Amino acid sequence: MKYLVTGGAGFIGSNFIMYILQKHPSVSIINLDALTYAGNLENLESVQDDPRYKFIKGDITDNKLVDEIFESGIDYVVHFAAESHVDRSILDASIFVKTNVMGTQVLLDAAKRYGVTKFVHVSTDEVYGSLGATGLFLEDTPLAPNSPYSASKAGSDLLVRAYHETFGLPVNITRCSNNYGPFQFPEKLIPLMIANALSDKSLPVYGDGLNIRDWLYVEDHCSAIDLVVHQGELGEVYNIGGNNERTNIQIVKTVLTELGKSESLIEYVQDRLGHDRRYGIDATKITQQLGWKPQFDFEKGMPKTIQWYLDNQSWWKRIQSGEYEEYYTKQYGLR
Ligand code: NAD
Repeated sequence: MKYLVTGGAGFIGSNFIMYILQKHPSVSIINLDALTYAGNLENLESVQDDPRYKFIKGDITDNKLVDEIFESGIDYVVHFAAESHVDRSILDASIFVKTNVMGTQVLLDAAKRYGVTKFVHVSTDEVYGSLGATGLFLEDTPLAPNSPYSASKAGSDLLVRAYHETFGLPVNITRCSNNYGPFQFPEKLIPLMIANALSDKSLPVYGDGLNIRDWLYVEDHCSAIDLVVHQGELGEVYNIGGNNERTNIQIVKTVLTELGKSESLIEYVQDRLGHDRRYGIDATKITQQLGWKPQFDFEKGMPKTIQWYLDNQSWWKRIQSGEYEEYYTKQYGLR
């Protein structure tokens, strides 16, 4: 079975490639990634010489290249490639529309032309918008994205749905809550806080710190996608979540406690524009219909993650320079 994984040099995509190569001996994987600021081939050093794995540097909006890849015969597409950071989408939305919406359309057209067994589109709970204090997102919760990032993801979800309805393309859409774990770019909440705490820098917390997210260890997301690839009913959407809601300030304080650092490092900064208050996922469907069960609760996943960032300081220190430093200063007004 031949996979095309898009965005496989990013956080979740690289974890997914390593997970699949370990779990399924007789697969081959093409990783198509443009290596934007978020893509890093160092994530995949452990598999780079595996004959089952091939990397192609390229953009998912490049029709010609995408066609050539599909022409070589693809069974499963697992589509991660995206601009993925909400804050950057508030600074400039254009690349989000290009990659997330138009790139998805290019892949869908190629999948339609050449035929695939399954096209799995990896989306996010953010497409559902924000919740009040109670209730959870279900797969049929109306889409109500509030950020340019989530709007572009919702746009791509709707295209995937439309290609199923119009052309009968065999698709699934997954909508997962916030992931954490190894190889996450240090602009995202948990690695940012770990990296700053280890460097004794301020930990910027938006607004009152009480925004709530559900958190899932990345390997559990990978196992869920693997199940959807092989067992997901065609045309269906699957929510994926950790049943693990935390306020941002709880996360930050957990990091500080684990690292033995002082809470005086916390610095409240001006809230993110349009900041969604709460996300919460009901993952009953994938649990009951596909038998998915997360293996890592937060108490196990967080220390494991923190230990990884402690052991791999050269990985994130190399990233924290140049373009990233410029972005960071602009975003938080902090050094
Ligand atoms: P990431 O930013 O770490 O990785 C994205 C990857 O896509 C990078 O390797 C980048 O180089 C590549 N890419 C970007 N534009 C491209 C293009 N035009 N052509 C080819 N490659 C391109 O993102 P992530 O956190 O790993 O998220 C992966 C997917 O999962 C995204 O679609 C995201 O919306 C979704 N998702 C993420 C989370 C999360 O918590 N991180 C949760 C739910 C869903």
